[in-house]
Amino acid sequence: MSKIRIYSLAKEVGVDNHRMLEILDGLGVQYKSVSSTIEEDTVELIKQILAEEGTDATGGQVSDPTPDTEVAGETPEPAAAPQPTPAVQTAAPTPEPAPGQMPSEGRAVPPTPTATAPASPATQGAAATQVEERPTAPAEREVPHRAPVVTIMGHVDHGKTSLLDYIRKTKVAAKEAGGITQHVGAFEAQTSKGRIVFIDTPGHEAFTTIRARGANVADIAIIVIAADDSLMPQTREAIAHAQAAKVPMIVAINKIDLAQADPERVKTDLTQLNLVPEEYGGDLVVVPVSARTGEGVEDLLEYISLTAELEDLRADPKGTFSGVIIEGKVDKQAGVLATVMVQEGTLHIGDFLVVGERYGKIKAMTDTGGGRIKEAGPSTPVQVLGFSDVPESGEKVVSAKNEHAARELVDARAGQRRDAENARVRNRLTLEEMMGP
Ligand code: GDP
Ligand code: MG
Repeated sequence: MSKIRIYSLAKEVGVDNHRMLEILDGLGVQYKSVSSTIEEDTVELIKQILAEEGTDATGGQVSDPTPDTEVAGETPEPAAAPQPTPAVQTAAPTPEPAPGQMPSEGRAVPPTPTATAPASPATQGAAATQVEERPTAPAEREVPHRAPVVTIMGHVDHGKTSLLDYIRKTKVAAKEAGGITQHVGAFEAQTSKGRIVFIDTPGHEAFTTIRARGANVADIAIIVIAADDSLMPQTREAIAHAQAAKVPMIVAINKIDLAQADPERVKTDLTQLNLVPEEYGGDLVVVPVSARTGEGVEDLLEYISLTAELEDLRADPKGTFSGVIIEGKVDKQAGVLATVMVQEGTLHIGDFLVVGERYGKIKAMTDTGGGRIKEAGPSTPVQVLGFSDVPESGEKVVSAKNEHAARELVDARAGQRRDAENARVRNRLTLEEMMGP
């Protein structure tokens, strides 16, 4: 009886993880994450479903009279099995409508509009092609994916900085331009699975300060645990922070190059916090790495991408801009520099930004590699020149149409704050009066 992880199966049969989870949902199969394992019976069933989908695409055979998920392996409808339908996703249309068995959604799993598409009899024959197009659900689906933003936390000396350095060195294309890359609080890594944005201020402060201001920047938290030291107080804190923020965690067991490394002990210790690694039947992704040799780092990046895919992170570059300050500082030459993480919409040079009760006009922008850019879309950390005061980590940033609108917003905020302060003072006075002398 062999089990397989969901993402491995997805890879094997050539569908994305989302589709795979949709199928599992449709079957009512319980799982915790894309790295959960599933039973052989279920695997068979899924393959069957996909094979039928292939058939569906060719002739609309969506239906299967007995959608009994329990009798795995048993093929009640032989049509699916013998047909060599290689292309699982979008099989080439063959003009074979299989008339007898069009309708009844059967177990064409996804409870999305897709599954019910063939409902109208009118669409059946001629318009079979429309059915196979699987019109990805409206509106919501059109918002494009964005890169994941990752934060690295863990106990001091467990290797957070080293790990970030290794990733930066190996995954960030060096830019000749200025030579020196300034520290801007974030960087973007290019991986075979796409872009990953790392918050480059390791430690909990960055994370908690930002969260304390009600902003959420990180999509995924990497908890670094040294294999020779296992769980330490700040490790537990980091885990607690990630849990409180409901940010998915990936554990990187670092320093596995050391002779005294004991990754098994780390896993056992994690189990005691009710964090059960996958190998122990849980759903915690644990990746052994060495920031020194680079071993496992590629796997770590892959797991980040997998987790991101699952989270289905999306943002609209055409939407209203919003972002968060990652860090701000004063540069002797340039003046006030702020790193802004674009979360929605797109920033352009010349835009007016409002942070708290201040505003500024973007005079220049640089990407995290130090290159000049004119605009920046979602999940892009960008260094902005144009604020007059230094904004603080975690402050929210919005944009205004023009200077007038920016000033109005700032004034309104200042007014609100004063009102709140006055109210507080009044309340205190009344309380004192009530208490008497
Ligand atoms: P941080 O406090 O979590 O940022 O930890 P650092 O990255 O500063 O690393 C602390 C120490 O551990 C440094 O001396 C690093 O060289 C060392 N270190 C970090 N990662 C590794 C690793 O994978 N293997 C070994 N052998 N040493 C490491
Ligand atoms: Mg450090």
